[in-house]
Amino acid sequence: SGAQAQGKELVVATDTAFVPFEFKQGNTYVGFDVDLWAAIAKELNLKYKLQPMDFNGIIPGLQTKNIDAALAGITIRDDRKKVIDFSDPYYESGLAILVGDKNTDIKDAKSLSGKTVAVKTGTATVDFLKAQVPDAKLKLFPNIDNAYLELATGRVDAAVHDTPNVQYYANTAGKGRVKVVGSVKSGDFYGIAFPKGSDLVPQVNKALATLKANGQYDAIYEKWFGKKP
Ligand code: GLN
Repeated sequence: SGAQAQGKELVVATDTAFVPFEFKQGNTYVGFDVDLWAAIAKELNLKYKLQPMDFNGIIPGLQTKNIDAALAGITIRDDRKKVIDFSDPYYESGLAILVGDKNTDIKDAKSLSGKTVAVKTGTATVDFLKAQVPDAKLKLFPNIDNAYLELATGRVDAAVHDTPNVQYYANTAGKGRVKVVGSVKSGDFYGIAFPKGSDLVPQVNKALATLKANGQYDAIYEKWFGKKP
């Protein structure tokens, strides 16, 4: 595959809705992942088209090789490494709880016990909550924006998702209606994902290292998240 990567138009999957990594603005997709991949593709002289899809379809799409690469804030995990390949880590993340702005009884993972919690199908959050809070009632949504709407309209007690996404949502579309309770997990890392054995992996790692060394990575980071702490 990768030997011809520079010639053909690659299919690069992103999530349909994962602010601020990939989201629709007017008719185009924008975000941190979108900008990062554009910079990598420029570095490697790759042609590609973005294919936004529900997160749940991305790993199967890589396994069948319908997708050449994917950026969707995909958490690097050992079980996933068995079926797909990952680039070097490009973003440190975690999980956080979102509640309605007047909620006072949900404080941490434990306090989700017995509560109805909106989560996104196929994500690390689902596995985390099943293991840590087995009696939470999970309500699954393929698109996290619908989970957040469910919370904003009071039909669930909380939503749990990736920390940067939860924070960004709370500061933008959810402002005044929802609040972030706090982090329930840290130390996760996102990687760019590929079909097993893709020759793109070493090329992309090299490009990532270049972008980190020459300041382009930091510029993209600051555009979407502000100055690094
Ligand atoms: N980081 C989450 C996971 O890998 C998914 C994030 C997202 O919803 N795109 O499971």
